[in-house]
Amino acid sequence: MGCGATDVVAVLRAGADTVALHRVELTDLDRPIGDADHGENLNRGFAAVMSALDSAVPETPGGVLKIAASTLISKVGGAAGPLYGTAFLRAATTLGDKSELDAAAVVGALRAALAGVVARGKADVGDATMVDALASAVVAAEAAETDGIAGLLAAAADAAGTGAESTIPLIARKGRASYLGERSIGHLDPGARSTALLLRAFAEAVR
Ligand code: ADP
Ligand code: MG
Repeated sequence: MGCGATDVVAVLRAGADTVALHRVELTDLDRPIGDADHGENLNRGFAAVMSALDSAVPETPGGVLKIAASTLISKVGGAAGPLYGTAFLRAATTLGDKSELDAAAVVGALRAALAGVVARGKADVGDATMVDALASAVVAAEAAETDGIAGLLAAAADAAGTGAESTIPLIARKGRASYLGERSIGHLDPGARSTALLLRAFAEAVR
């Protein structure tokens, strides 16, 4: 199956739906180790992305992701907006003006998204951030590229879930949670959880 601009809009809509569904959970995860706004932040951002895409449907997947990126950067305050925005922007740039995505393009987009988050936030794997979910996802997606877009996204979502869970015993080294030092141990990082949820939704939408 090809994956064009309208397919990418549908995939983002699935992401927006999952963020809305898990809004309270994500905010609750952000309460003990942050400022209890992650679910609200992302939900506001993805709702804005979908309304931006309702009025202008770009012709390429990269164009769709570029609108998502600029909307997230302008509408979501805090750490997560610029980080997710940069992820989508780097993915968009990597895709260029391709009109249909294949598995290799999707893997390249995920790799670029990770590079963008790391460039922006300077977190390493093990710092208990969304990078722990996204880096695991990229490794899995690369290994599953021959399984096609649906297969590689399913593998990426599984790995992101495991990567997110791996943040629980860690000391947070970046973001607000790092202010707590050792008291950040024992908590699932909200951004890692949202990354895993988004990738699961993307995978389900493509399937
Ligand atoms: P804020 O911390 O500004 O309130 P959010 O609550 O929306 O923003 O997002 C918090 C999430 O952002 C964290 O759970 C973590 O995954 C992610 N995060 C914060 N700082 C960084 C960073 N430097 N690098 C990668 N991810 C980060
Ligand atoms: Mg927060």
